[in-house]
Amino acid sequence: MKIKSAEFVMSNSNVTKAPKDRIPEYAFIGRSNVGKSSLINMLMERKDLAKTSGKPGKTQLINHFKINDEWFLVDLPGYGYAQISKKKRTIFQFFIENYFKEREQLVCTFILIDSRHDPQKIDIEFMQFLGENQIPFCIAFTKADKLSSSKLNKQITSYKKKLLNTWETLPTSFITSSSSGLGRKEFLDFIDGVNEDVAKDFQ
Ligand code: GDP
Repeated sequence: MKIKSAEFVMSNSNVTKAPKDRIPEYAFIGRSNVGKSSLINMLMERKDLAKTSGKPGKTQLINHFKINDEWFLVDLPGYGYAQISKKKRTIFQFFIENYFKEREQLVCTFILIDSRHDPQKIDIEFMQFLGENQIPFCIAFTKADKLSSSKLNKQITSYKKKLLNTWETLPTSFITSSSSGLGRKEFLDFIDGVNEDVAKDFQ
């Protein structure tokens, strides 16, 4: 897929106010600092479409971007940020939860995982939440350039093995690096394929 256009549409904290266009939508989510903004910018070949955060937890809104006038890319708030107060975090999780439960256009969620990390409770719980709500998801391993290729392979294999303790089948996954562009083609080809598969549902 060639990225011909990538426009910011709106930010909000209420899914009912999200854009009404009936086009397929892909959500990006992960722990703060996982490299979400960098990955979005790398995929879209834009320097600062998504804001790379100096301060984790800053982008606490549902951000819609329209890509090629054909699909939405949604940048969701990073979760698991320790410094968000307990009360604020509850609200924050509530609107994300609503987004996932109510957004009919959502066809796939990309959960971003730092390639260097072992499975974290919050990511595993989030996958379970999506599973329980029958929301399809993929995993995007980020910052692959930070490990040697043998360490990277070992780490990803071990991550998948641990997932198989709770899941019968593994989700589609991508290994990415925003610094080198690794995984960009596979990622965009995947979205292209899903867009084709779901086209009839969006007529
Ligand atoms: P976000 O909070 O998830 O949006 O994460 P950011 O995209 O702001 O990235 C957090 C930090 O990780 C920044 O210092 C980035 O420069 C760095 N980073 C993100 N992706 C990569 C990557 O693929 N490779 C390397 N080496 N650093 C990365």
